[in-house]
Amino acid sequence: MSFLSLNGISRSFGTTRAVADVWLDVHQGEFFGLLGPSGCGKTTTLRMIAGLEKPDSGSIEFQGSDITNLPPERRGFGMVFQNYALFPHLNVFDNVAFGLRARHKTKAEMAERVASALELVQLPGYGKRPVDELSGGQQQRVAIARAIAIEPALLLFDEPLSNLDVSLREETRSELRELVTRLGLTAVYVTHDQEEAFALCDRISVMVGGKLMQTGRPRELYEQPAEISVASFLGRNNLIKAMRLSSSKTAEGEFKTLEGGHTLHLPVKHEDLAPLNKPVFLAIRPEHVQLSTNDHEAENSLRGNIREIVFAGATSTVHVDAGGLLLEALVLRADGFEVDQPCSVILPKDRLTLLKNGRG
Ligand code: ATP
Repeated sequence: MSFLSLNGISRSFGTTRAVADVWLDVHQGEFFGLLGPSGCGKTTTLRMIAGLEKPDSGSIEFQGSDITNLPPERRGFGMVFQNYALFPHLNVFDNVAFGLRARHKTKAEMAERVASALELVQLPGYGKRPVDELSGGQQQRVAIARAIAIEPALLLFDEPLSNLDVSLREETRSELRELVTRLGLTAVYVTHDQEEAFALCDRISVMVGGKLMQTGRPRELYEQPAEISVASFLGRNNLIKAMRLSSSKTAEGEFKTLEGGHTLHLPVKHEDLAPLNKPVFLAIRPEHVQLSTNDHEAENSLRGNIREIVFAGATSTVHVDAGGLLLEALVLRADGFEVDQPCSVILPKDRLTLLKNGRG
């Protein structure tokens, strides 16, 4: 039995299809990310999980029960949003105690739970402070304390760190992750920030245009994007248009690049064997492209010329023109390279990915 299941949920606003047929299973104890560009439907999906929005079709199950029509207060989930939504006229204690009061807890139990929630977010003894006297980071921690005080089985976060400055965001991020793990909670975390999702989440679904494009562990998504939209959204990628040549259904495919006419070999899984003589996209990360000023006879080694070198501190990006095929390589040291210099570019076959939706 899955902890939380979204079974083909959809939601439209007028003619805008905000969420389209989303299927998803979140496991107990998991820190799960919903990642995607602005307007892709992340918030609407989270609001449907919270019960603040109803799906037009599909159902939501939580611990084996259908909760699609259950009002938010009966789901008992903890929620933390971008703008904290603290009550400015209440002090820290009353903000954190808010959900407990609604649940008719005794005074003693309330005092104990608030104290322990404030302890967890490292604000012990802050109960009497007015919330408007706290810094942004402290207010956000109060919002987290309020969400965990009710000991929710599921925590929902919608870009909760986006109004914090960079250093505070990173600090709060690690604290949050540590806290959720320590308490053995399950979290669904919405963000458009790839780095944040990678740092926090056990698994991530990438959402584009209302649809879930791919779900996996951060490294898997980064290194083996299945779809062109995922490859383009998740950082820099060399996208290479190519045609499949060999017809044999072996584990290795032979491709010819449309620019430069290079032959490339890479492993292809049976289920994603590309059709012959139809353009597809291959992807490789700039940090996996190898550069050398020597001639190379290695497999997937292309001859090229260095077009440009962009220094960026710890790394440099070298732009290479391989007979019309433009590639970027990320290198730690670019001092052995010069503009206009001939070079070899090696595209290691286990780093090349065939994109599923890449039929161009
Ligand atoms: P962001 O990161 O910018 O918040 P998002 O990925 O969370 O974006 P949603 O807020 O879920 O995306 O919005 C998805 C689409 O649905 C957008 O086109 C948005 O304009 C539209 N939308 C969301 N809520 C409403 C609403 N209440 N009324 C009309 N349209 C809406």
